[in-house]
Amino acid sequence: MSTLVNALGFFTSSTPAAAATKDVRSKEEILKKRKDTIGSKCQIFYSDDPFMVSRASMQYLYDEKGNKFLDCISNVQHVGHCHPKVVDAITKQLSTSTCNVRFVSTQLTDCAEQILSTLPGLDTVLFCNSGSEANDLALRLARDYTKHKDAIVIEHAYHGHVTTTMELSPYKFDHGSTVSQPEWVHVAPCPDVFRGKHRLADNELTDEEKLYAAGKQYSDDVKNILDDVESRERGVAAYFAEALQSCGGQVIPPKDYFKDVASHVRKHGGLMVIDEVQTGFGRIGRKYWAHQLYDDGFIPDIVTMGKPMGNGFPVSAVATRKEIADALGGEVGYFNTYGGNPVACAAVISVMKIVKDENLLEHSQAMGEKLEVALRDLQKKHECIGDIRGVGLFWGIDLVKDRQTREPDQKLAIATILALRKSFGILLNADGPYTNILKIKPPLCFNSDNIMETVTALDQVLTLMNR
Ligand code: PMP
Repeated sequence: MSTLVNALGFFTSSTPAAAATKDVRSKEEILKKRKDTIGSKCQIFYSDDPFMVSRASMQYLYDEKGNKFLDCISNVQHVGHCHPKVVDAITKQLSTSTCNVRFVSTQLTDCAEQILSTLPGLDTVLFCNSGSEANDLALRLARDYTKHKDAIVIEHAYHGHVTTTMELSPYKFDHGSTVSQPEWVHVAPCPDVFRGKHRLADNELTDEEKLYAAGKQYSDDVKNILDDVESRERGVAAYFAEALQSCGGQVIPPKDYFKDVASHVRKHGGLMVIDEVQTGFGRIGRKYWAHQLYDDGFIPDIVTMGKPMGNGFPVSAVATRKEIADALGGEVGYFNTYGGNPVACAAVISVMKIVKDENLLEHSQAMGEKLEVALRDLQKKHECIGDIRGVGLFWGIDLVKDRQTREPDQKLAIATILALRKSFGILLNADGPYTNILKIKPPLCFNSDNIMETVTALDQVLTLMNR
């Protein structure tokens, strides 16, 4: 990796220097402190030269010297870093009351109502603080309601860092984690028609028909797991999946896949849990939620959400139906010290208002269409781009060593993100099970100029690397 990176030393920096921040401590000093005080397994971006943030504003981050960077990484800061209206809503509520949900607050119920107005078919919300907590709660809800124990997850899936959600995450337990796959977790093939088990057939069918056929094969795989589990006198409480798999490889399941899976899962007495922690609140443009992408009437039993909803303020939630929520915990109530506190709810209400007032669904869709055109052109020019997948402001560029074999090119992905940072002031991340997928998931205020800047820089980097 470093050889490739060194080879890129000929780029000249194009990042204008802004005013330096007042804190006189050096980055080296802070990094040493971090090494001394923070757990060594705590992940960090750009580990050879970590990025220190001095401030952030909308789609831009500023490093310790005040240099400005275009941020294509931060999907959490959904409507823009430090959006003044979110900051205002949070600070106002912080100085009014921070009481937990054992006290009645207008923020809690207003927030729940607004979330539910985007999720037809669901009528109840429970609040938590992180995506992991929301998925853990979703599993417990499904178990208490169905009286089953098992779960089906998708290959490469990531659902969170707490023990139960690690147990639901092949992204962790297949990659050297001390948490291993328990007997109650069953892994279904990832519905990835590019690199997965069932790919688009090479025949006379239309693309739509090919996608449908592959989707059917993938949903049949889930049916087979359900039959097998039942034959062993076990029961599936929940099928867990992201509507569009993000960490697991930026995968968009074929149309009708979830609808078919839901009919199999429900026949076996299980629930459909859709993890929208990365994809919710309008990121995909066309719709508020990624599971609504196909307009096919598919309604999950439980939807979990997190990251973007507080624009950086910790908050998450589980939306479901009343009868499922009522089954939770037997005689034991649900209490979560910070979940649903009025400051968190004020943040969510404010984010949802901005999404509406600033037409961010329409904007994200329009930007996604522009990005797709530009990336398809780039793909024609660069053999190393095996596939591009995405919708709205949620894209993956799948880098390969060879288009025929589709062998992932992790080295190239890493060298590319380092060069984009160093020479173009653009922050991008690589992810997926082989860390070969460049991810573009910026704050939704990302604009047409930002798209052109990113794609042009990517073009130059790949050209200079002869790829
Ligand atoms: N689900 C998905 C799909 C995620 O991407 C993540 C975080 N990357 C989580 C759950 C866990 O969320 P958190 O880190 O807020 O616990």
